[in-house]
Amino acid sequence: MLVIQDLYKQFGSLVAVNEFNLRVETGETVVLMGPSGCGKSTAIRTINRLIEPDRGSIMLNDSNIIAMEPDELRQARKRIGFVFQHFNLIGRLSALENVMLGLVMSGVERKNAESRAADSLCKVGLDNHLDHKPDQLSGGQQQRVGIARALAYEPELMLWDEPTASLDPILVREVLVVMEELARFRSSTMIVVTHELPFALRVADRIVLMDHGRIVEEGKPSQVFVSPISDIGKRYKELIE
Ligand code: ATP
Ligand code: MG
Repeated sequence: MLVIQDLYKQFGSLVAVNEFNLRVETGETVVLMGPSGCGKSTAIRTINRLIEPDRGSIMLNDSNIIAMEPDELRQARKRIGFVFQHFNLIGRLSALENVMLGLVMSGVERKNAESRAADSLCKVGLDNHLDHKPDQLSGGQQQRVGIARALAYEPELMLWDEPTASLDPILVREVLVVMEELARFRSSTMIVVTHELPFALRVADRIVLMDHGRIVEEGKPSQVFVSPISDIGKRYKELIE
């Protein structure tokens, strides 16, 4: 279980995340939405401390990520997968090697890393592309390698920050399909930042809406998109109708 309490982050005079409280049950899929600049990326990046919050606590199964020393944080990050908008694959390495790299660097023995990487590429439907370099893969396939890289650690928590935002609309679907399967499988808890409304409607156990750094509404998709209470929720409802 993930429990975030009183998270706060300011950049200069701009308050990006304010009084952010969120509890996510194990296996739950939460979709975080809201207008551009409302603080979604900042909030999600503080969870593995890619961004250091000014205050707040983030408990992942009883350990406070915010209080961790660097060594402990490095260990904890292995339990947290992160998929970004940009895939950041290494161009001269194959899909398999890209997925293996992090495992090997974190001390997993090479043969073991190779079989874990291959398994994880299989989960995203790329078992026939293990030897392909990034420039021999489509954008959607590259992003699936990025997902496989995160999955290889068998993370307890998966954080997704607009994983389909830089993809051609036709390729978006293949990535959403992989994400949807992972959500249904419930092997890890997921927090997904996305603007893909149909995906959110179908896959989210809970929608969390942010505005100006704060959570303004949360609930099941059938509640938030059907009888919203916040202005942002009402705007999403209009988009769906
Ligand atoms: P988008 O949907 O466009 O990705 P977002 O909801 O993810 O937006 P954030 O990236 O979290 O928004 O940004 C929240 C606010 O904090 C914005 O006003 C942004 O300009 C500001 N901000 C984010 N990162 C920094 C930074 N490193 N330095 C200064 N300001 C920042
Ligand atoms: Mg963002």
